[in-house]
Amino acid sequence: IPDRLVGNEKSVWVEYTQLVLKYKPLNLGQGFPDFHAPENVIKALAATTTSDNPLLNQYTRGFGHPRLVNVIAKLFSRLLNRTLDPNNEILITSGAYEALFSTLQGHTNPGDEWIIIEPFFDCYEPMIKVAGGVPRFIPLKPKNINGPLSSADWVFDKQELESLFNEKTKGIILNTPNNPIGKVFSLDELQFISDLAKKWNVLVVSDEVYEWLVYEPAKHIRIATLPGMYERTITIGSAGKTFSITGWKIGWAYGPANLLYNLQVVHQNTVYTCPTPLQEAVAIAFEQELERFDSPDCYFVSLARDLKPKRDFMAKFLSDVGMIPTIPEGGFFMIANWTKLKDKVQLEEETDEYRDYRFTKWMAKNVGVLGIPPSTFYSPEHKYIGEDNVRYCFIKKDENLEKAAELLKKWK
Ligand code: PMP
Ligand code: GLN
Repeated sequence: IPDRLVGNEKSVWVEYTQLVLKYKPLNLGQGFPDFHAPENVIKALAATTTSDNPLLNQYTRGFGHPRLVNVIAKLFSRLLNRTLDPNNEILITSGAYEALFSTLQGHTNPGDEWIIIEPFFDCYEPMIKVAGGVPRFIPLKPKNINGPLSSADWVFDKQELESLFNEKTKGIILNTPNNPIGKVFSLDELQFISDLAKKWNVLVVSDEVYEWLVYEPAKHIRIATLPGMYERTITIGSAGKTFSITGWKIGWAYGPANLLYNLQVVHQNTVYTCPTPLQEAVAIAFEQELERFDSPDCYFVSLARDLKPKRDFMAKFLSDVGMIPTIPEGGFFMIANWTKLKDKVQLEEETDEYRDYRFTKWMAKNVGVLGIPPSTFYSPEHKYIGEDNVRYCFIKKDENLEKAAELLKKWK
């Protein structure tokens, strides 16, 4: 492979999907629901593909299907309290992945530095490097490690963050709610990041794919709404996460036209356009949610309400077997420290460099429960912070969470 790709050969998603196929464990690994997507969303797609309009199965506008960019502009205009231009301030992408890729390709010159808060969704690092940029890392660290933990206990050191900014800094990537910890960044933390971004005149890329998965009393704050921040922020979202349709791979980026322009240049020469029927159906789904926006049935709030008991059930059964979970304020993942159980696993049977890889593989093969090794979400020098933990996904049917609880109890 070409030099610029060296170091990107391994992907936890590729490797662990293989494990699922081979050992067929109860899969609490990669993040996706194991239950049906909302009926209205599926029906919208069925109706679209069989509609009388032949054009709905053909190419649509490259930067986003008109019906979809219009409704996304309407929704975020309301949430940001400013008017977004659907044609120049929104780009529809092939999942949030492509929004991240087009952002980092479109805004990186060789040598530009991007600040990443660890643990981070793993593709940020290779995307920056392939674009010729340099990632700079700052870890979140737990404030106390003895009692029960909340994701709010995982914090960055303010001075350490400040010290990473310099004249080569291009921007900072924020992910709130965070994958894998579930941290929902507080106003104070976002204000601190914003002040630094303004002081150094840099970009903020805000990955908000879990924006609707926030558990009371936590509140999702869009950094683009802070004073002077819209001008320098590219915000990324995902229909996969918003509507529990991760297989559709429709995402978006929004921000000021001058910043979005760079993404358009990348998108038009790589993906060019995303699937029309999927965009039409996502547009219909958004229109329906906008109609019931203030109702408790609105999927934007009902999904999180339905997930909260699943989160709490998982926290309990992990604690019951002796793990120390971090209760997430958002997202659908939970990390748990498993070191008290180290005598119950034969880590020497596995050959991986990092303990959490050995733990998760051994568990998949011998206990039948699959989680993701969190060290994958850290730079090499900080992987040790993730190694004592495992990440489990809880957007699963109750019966499967109960099965996981039984398997863990039996093993313990
Ligand atoms: N960002 C984060 C934080 C994620 O967890 C994911 C996982 N899906 C993505 C981006 C990519 O989203 P998509 O499936 O829409 O490409
Ligand atoms: N975001 C999901 C996760 O963290 C999916 C990852 C992926 O599709 N590569 O599990």
